[in-house]
Amino acid sequence: MKRVILFGAPGSGKGTQSGSLSEFLRVNVISLGDILRKEVKDGTALGGEVKGFMEKGLLVSDELVGRVIEANLNPNGFVLDGYPRNVAQAENLEAILKTNNCDIDAFIYFDVDESTVIERLSKRRICKQCGALYHLKNMPPQKCGVCDKCAGELYQRKDDNPETIKKRWEVFLEENQGLVDFYTSRNKLIKVDARGQKDDVFERIKPKLQ
Ligand code: AMP
Repeated sequence: MKRVILFGAPGSGKGTQSGSLSEFLRVNVISLGDILRKEVKDGTALGGEVKGFMEKGLLVSDELVGRVIEANLNPNGFVLDGYPRNVAQAENLEAILKTNNCDIDAFIYFDVDESTVIERLSKRRICKQCGALYHLKNMPPQKCGVCDKCAGELYQRKDDNPETIKKRWEVFLEENQGLVDFYTSRNKLIKVDARGQKDDVFERIKPKLQ
């Protein structure tokens, strides 16, 4: 498999698994959220357009994220995190790939419940320098506030606060079923129980990608 989508609620573990999956499949990760956050941080025009939506936990327009995907997607292979998030985006991705005579291989659905999402996101910390992910309880850094991998400073995402987490969960629930139906009808859906530890979840995914 070379073209894989990671789908699930915020905090379902897509970002946590994306690195292992990219090594396993030997393709690059594209995280739409990371790309947009960088635009905001760099103060670009695009960043200015998306900032307000991101802070409120709302989806940015399909047209705008479609452009970002077209500019960043290598159709030969990818682990795609955070796109598509609704059926219109799924149709757009299908059209982009079709012009390259290819299609996705799998849509991996990370299945979690709301309480897991709240617990994971509220204790999530990220390295400012290398983007490594931590969880204060389940995957804590060795030294408080410092990245194990590069000694960068750890921070909490602005939208990982209780109010915005709730909004993001609601937005996810609105779009979730439509997307699951879309990829079920194309025989691409792989549903994984995404609760529990990182390594356990990866072991559940791996055999389904053979
Ligand atoms: P994430 O890092 O995937 O949790 O995304 C963070 C935020 O970026 C979301 O809450 C949205 O505001 C925006 N975003 C990321 N991916 C998309 C997408 N496919 N469509 C629209 N907005 C998105």
